Amino acid sequence: MAYATINPFTNEQIKVFPNTTDAEIDATLDAAHTTFLSWRETSFAERAKVMQNAADILRRDADKYAKIMTLEMGKLISESRAEVELTAAIFEYYAKNAERLLQPQDLPVASKDEGRAKLVFQPLGILLAVEPWNFPHYQVARIIAPQLSAGNTVILKHASNVPQSAQAMDDLMIEAGLPKGGFRNLYPTHDQVARIVADHRVRGVALTGSEGAGAKIASGAGAALKKSTMELGGSDAFIVLEDADLEKTAKWAVFGRHWNAGQVCVSAKRMIVVDSVYDEFVKRYREGVAQLKMGDPMDPSTTLAPLSSQKAADDLKKQVEDAVKAGAKAEEIPLAMPNTGAFFRPVILTDAKHDNPARREEFFGPVTLLFRAKDEADAISIANDSPYGLGGSVFTKDEARGERVAKKIETGMVYINHPTMVKADLPFGGVLRSGYGRELIGLGIKEFVNAKLIDIVDIDAPF
Ligand code: NAP
Repeated sequence: MAYATINPFTNEQIKVFPNTTDAEIDATLDAAHTTFLSWRETSFAERAKVMQNAADILRRDADKYAKIMTLEMGKLISESRAEVELTAAIFEYYAKNAERLLQPQDLPVASKDEGRAKLVFQPLGILLAVEPWNFPHYQVARIIAPQLSAGNTVILKHASNVPQSAQAMDDLMIEAGLPKGGFRNLYPTHDQVARIVADHRVRGVALTGSEGAGAKIASGAGAALKKSTMELGGSDAFIVLEDADLEKTAKWAVFGRHWNAGQVCVSAKRMIVVDSVYDEFVKRYREGVAQLKMGDPMDPSTTLAPLSSQKAADDLKKQVEDAVKAGAKAEEIPLAMPNTGAFFRPVILTDAKHDNPARREEFFGPVTLLFRAKDEADAISIANDSPYGLGGSVFTKDEARGERVAKKIETGMVYINHPTMVKADLPFGGVLRSGYGRELIGLGIKEFVNAKLIDIVDIDAPF
């Protein structure tokens, strides 16, 4: 795929970026390895300074970073600004917490004959981050903030439609004071990515993206026997129980399905509503969606952005048509739509029966799969009838009930009375076909460190 900035609001191609050459890849690997050898010896305090600088620069130049994202993938400018702040918060989190999270850990042993055993957490080396376009800065920070803080170095392969956002992160880290070679953005082909994965100096791969990309990259990492983490797609359930506050729940549902134009791995993609409140909820939901306003994502009054590309809009249209051919009913919400740009009118899909493949697919855009559940147990069973296991929500006034239901949902994250709480100090990740591994907090930073046992034993200890 050619790396290019194409404005999804106008479908105009702004700039094309040439692919990285093989020689540049070799030079980048050399530099990343050499830098790793010195970077791993730096103190946590020194690394924290670079992370805090990155956070400060992002906040200082928030508008610049926000505009690049909106230009390249079309999200609302207010969402871009919020993403810049979230990205800064992640750098700051690791500036403040990395040393504590990687403190050596004394191990309790059964007898002193076993020695004084401890775990130390040491960096592995070069990591490859393969990232998607839907959160061009935040996704990169989820890997580089923890992993650079741990002493690793990172090479970035970002999505081909956000080349300027990718380079902005590269420039950011240089300005923040990271030694050259510590983090580098490249524009490789998929074949070149496979070669980087296989390079013996690369010690791990973190991918966020689709199942297809995940399966390819994970198998390359597996063949080379190196660690990988996979943050893949999702089709999160948004369960509405009969005791939910329907007015507020419907508002969250509209937001949860349509922020970032519905292109969020943890969008509320499947609304599962118990029978007794179904009609009332759907009425409010439909009214809420009908109030969205499509338009220029740079205009603060716009509330529904275009999709990331015309191809994304065309693919989604085809996916809805296939769902209808397989028996679902589609209701398009008749919003006024600009004449150009990758816009997509919201669709509500009902009657997706068990044999309809749409029921188990991810719709990456403003398409809602709506289900009527008999009761709480039926809602849980519909929620779990999915190959994905990323996030989900339960709306109820009874928190204990919400927690009970949350424990029965097979996903990595469940929110009670909220569509999704994406924060710097909460972990992120899924199970099943949504991937494996966790990003953020202590779980994320420990994905790519060597938890090394050091045991100091009395030379006269028995075997
Ligand atoms: P995608 O096509 O899989 O792209 C993601 C990244 O993988 C891009 O950088 C892409 O580069 C690269 N890639 C794809 N195939 C590759 C290959 N064979 N070799 C090397 N690199 C390859 O994903 P998308 O459809 O754009 O993104 C949306 C998906 O990401 C959705 O499924 C969404 O749910 C998921 N997502 C998950 C999370 C999470 O945390 N779980 C967060 C955000 C998004 P190119 O652009 O060059 O193809």
